[in-house]
Amino acid sequence: VRSSIAVKIDYPEYLNDESGLISNGNAEKIFFPESENELIEIVKMSYSQKTPITISGGGTGISGGRVPLNGWIIATDNLTCISAENANDKFQWSDQSTGKSYELELIIVSENEARFRVPVSISVKEIQNFCKEHGWFYPPDPTERTAYIGGNVATNASGARSFKYGSTRNWIQSLRITLIDGTVLHLTREDVPIGTNHTITLNDTIKVPRPTYNLPNTFKNVVGPVITDDSQPIDLFIGTEGIFGIITEVELRLIKAPKFIISMFIFVEDFNQAKIVSKLANERRKHQKNPIPMTVEYLDHRALKIMRSKDNTISDTAKGLIIIEQDVNSQEELDIYLEKWFEDFSSIGIEDISVAQLNNEIEHHKYLRHLVPESINMIARMNKQPKLGTDYSAPIDKMDELFDYAMKLGEKFENELSLSKNEFGYIFWSHFGDNHVHLNLLPQTNEQRELAKSMFKEFMEQIVSWNGSIAAEHGLGKKEFNGKPVIYIQLGEQGVNEILKMKKILDPDFLLNRGNLIGYQETQ
Ligand SMILES: Cc1cc2nc3c(=O)[nH]c(=O)nc-3n(C[C@H](O)[C@H](O)[C@H](O)COP(=O)(O)OP(=O)(O)OC[C@H]3O[C@@H](n4cnc5c(N)ncnc54)[C@H](O)[C@@H]3O)c2cc1C
Repeated sequence: VRSSIAVKIDYPEYLNDESGLISNGNAEKIFFPESENELIEIVKMSYSQKTPITISGGGTGISGGRVPLNGWIIATDNLTCISAENANDKFQWSDQSTGKSYELELIIVSENEARFRVPVSISVKEIQNFCKEHGWFYPPDPTERTAYIGGNVATNASGARSFKYGSTRNWIQSLRITLIDGTVLHLTREDVPIGTNHTITLNDTIKVPRPTYNLPNTFKNVVGPVITDDSQPIDLFIGTEGIFGIITEVELRLIKAPKFIISMFIFVEDFNQAKIVSKLANERRKHQKNPIPMTVEYLDHRALKIMRSKDNTISDTAKGLIIIEQDVNSQEELDIYLEKWFEDFSSIGIEDISVAQLNNEIEHHKYLRHLVPESINMIARMNKQPKLGTDYSAPIDKMDELFDYAMKLGEKFENELSLSKNEFGYIFWSHFGDNHVHLNLLPQTNEQRELAKSMFKEFMEQIVSWNGSIAAEHGLGKKEFNGKPVIYIQLGEQGVNEILKMKKILDPDFLLNRGNLIGYQETQ
């Protein structure tokens, strides 16, 4: 347990996250529970004293979600064990690269599927390392692999491979959750779907009203609880940014590892070539016709410049880069798929392609890809202004409109800045196949920051008018516009009131992750 001064001096990083959005993070105490029981004790204390709690995962969030505004921090870093009562075949495993040790459980369901029970502090990278060692595959692959699985569940992270495999939500078999009064829930995919019921039943005594707001027509959306007739009670805790409960344990679904994964860097001469590739991949996904890629991304020429600073083999004439990752199950399949892709590229006039197949080559591609957001975050820190990034997705048939809007907005914003040579005011990359764009504006002054915000407000309204989503994977955290949480732009008063009703039942004093998603009003 550490007091406020110690938090500021010894643990300043816990007062922020990767967003740099909030400069006044503040907490009286920080706790590092080592077991679910310890965590429950802290939560009960908070509940009886009405002290707000902010939950911290790996701190890689980019919406200010783990930044405490007051009260206590519960850091999940030391939750490395799974709970005794529901795990029978626990074993200890250490990650060679991080040296961290975890208690885990692996249940093999069939040759093709396993269940993997993990504590929340294990990182995505460590899960991937475990899977590699044991011949299994965990498909979600958010770019920032130091994020914890707890943070990934709370934000329903997705990233590149969602094109074929969907977001974190699709890979969760069960969750253990601690509510603010210390109640523990164990929700699983075996629970009855919500169907047309008006309430969601969490246990014998806790029921919450089901939200009725419109859901966007997109592949990815994390704006508030995403509940459909097929959803189950567990879905209420996925992607809701910790406002309803604290996740302590996650059971993941794993599949058999593909024999090979190939990563292709495809350099395009104009944006139309990229659009044709994305449309082609979408047709294949729609008709379930192979080869369906795991990943279809697009990065602009500024991103290429960043990559070139670390690898001079990267094209300096290309307009942009498509990244395709393809999983294959045999050598024969590999040959067929590669031939098919190369036929496609050649028919579009694309010639400059780099194929990575060996582990170290693939890691190098990943390193270059990761360098882009990381460098942008660094530029923002140097500018002493947070970058403002979109996480918007639109329906697939609005692809031309979405990217046209994003590029024009970037240019318009950049024209307002006085930049020296080699500097830039915007950059974009996208989970292209899912019609999901990360346009990043890099203001250098407070005025430019306000301008960027107002431009994004208009962009968000446009997205909503297309029936798109203003948060496809990063969550809304503590993002506001004119002092109001941005969630109102998509869900309106009525939609937000529906979430507030659920919050009132699960956390009547508004103690958990106060400020996230739906903000906080004293009168609540
Ligand atoms: C360079 C870079 C690239 C990124 N790329 C992607 C990407 O491709 N796809 C993507 O989806 N995201 C991406 N992100 C965003 C980020 O990595 C994800 O949002 C991630 O899921 C956050 O996990 P974390 O453990 O770091 O959580 P934190 O930042 O610590 O917290 C995020 C939110 O989850 C809550 N939370 C954390 N743990 C728990 C818990 N146990 N119970 C309840 N609530 C909890 C926190 O309170 C907070 O609201 C990227 C970030 C960076 C910096």
